[in-house]
Amino acid sequence: IAYEVHAKGSYNINIGGKIPLGLKPKSQRVLVTGGAGFVGSHLVDRLMARGDSVIVVDNFFTGRKENLFHHLRNPKFELIRHDVVEPLLVEVDQIYHLACPASPILNEIRDHKTNVVGTLNMLGLAKRINARFLLTSTSEVYGDPLEHPQVETYWGNVNPIGVRSCYDEGKRVAETLTMDYHRGLNIEVRIARIFNTYGPRMCLDDGRVVSNFVAQALRKEPMTVYGDGRQTRSFQYVSDLVEGLMRLMEGEYVGPFNLGNPGEFTMLELARVVQDTIDPNAKIEFRPNTEDDPHKRKPDISKAKELLGWKPSVSLREGLPLMVSDFRQRLFGDQKDSTT
Ligand code: NAD
Ligand code: UDP
Ligand code: UDP
Repeated sequence: IAYEVHAKGSYNINIGGKIPLGLKPKSQRVLVTGGAGFVGSHLVDRLMARGDSVIVVDNFFTGRKENLFHHLRNPKFELIRHDVVEPLLVEVDQIYHLACPASPILNEIRDHKTNVVGTLNMLGLAKRINARFLLTSTSEVYGDPLEHPQVETYWGNVNPIGVRSCYDEGKRVAETLTMDYHRGLNIEVRIARIFNTYGPRMCLDDGRVVSNFVAQALRKEPMTVYGDGRQTRSFQYVSDLVEGLMRLMEGEYVGPFNLGNPGEFTMLELARVVQDTIDPNAKIEFRPNTEDDPHKRKPDISKAKELLGWKPSVSLREGLPLMVSDFRQRLFGDQKDSTT
């Protein structure tokens, strides 16, 4: 981190300890790829609040300009429509690389190109401008895990030729590229393995389970439970994730780090929480499950706790109502943009 002289006081960062009196961190220039998406736009809010100059690059494949409307007039903010599959020339200090078609409604070849070529381009950019690079990888790198909970040292159980491989294997290649640029070219990198995350601004109809159940219950449609509903996931509220990503970027450890909430729920339990939050009479409808669906997933977050001083603080029952009010407004409200 660079520092500039500041007349008053001292500044304390989470990792690295106390900075000498009279110094404060110089505001950073930060690139967020995929910054118009769900997680990216919340990250941008935090970076802007910190006083950084932020450039968002997004092709609006799943992201929305509305998620960033509230920054568009700020001179420290810039939004560029661009596909990371094409080379990019900007000058920044840090790159948060989130761009990825993250929804399960698949477009396999585009997924691959974004994960592989897009990540390569952003690493090439980091190399040229000597920026620190953070990859948002995923718990999907563990596949249908044979170890439970999943620790970062577990190598995973992924079908290389299955229907969801483009996402899982794409992210695995992205991790490999990231480590190769780090080891071979000395690029400063960070890797986060993100577990299922929910919150305001999630895509309404992208097929993920929390957004599906919430939208269905609000529309008085049955919640679609795939398979027998006994498969598990661990759901993290978006503000916890953003805090973890920023600590990882500012900290001194490469990772990978699991970032997730260890609270584990079956899909039937999740449906019950949605019923309790929205409508006790919401119905459940069973549907055949998708191929290669992981049976269970729960992060071991000991490493992030110890080295980043991070742990999630928002439970599913606390976080879900915040998402529900955003969805309610987007589905039935006056279409005002959510800035929560
Ligand atoms: P999202 O779909 O809301 O955001 C992804 C953003 O990337 C979108 O704005 C999309 O338009 C943009 N994008 C996609 N392809 C692009 C391309 N080729 N060039 C430029 N922009 C492109 O998804 P999200 O949930 O915010 O996910 C953000 C990141 O976190 C992704 O890398 C995802 O894989 C990772 N992640 C998310 C979760 C989760 O539960 N939300 C879990 C694990 C990992
Ligand atoms: N790249 C980019 N912006 C830059 C520098 C590189 O998008 O500022 C892309 C470049 O087009 C290349 C990729 O990053 O495809 C990898 O770059 P690197 O320099 O590592 O590899 P090389 O170009 O030597 O193959
Ligand atoms: N799922 C479900 N109903 C839905 C959407 C998903 O029961 O309407 C299940 C899906 O089969 C999986 C779990 O919810 O077991 C999580 O799915 P999601 O796509 O949200 O996340 P991922 O599988 O990537 O963890």
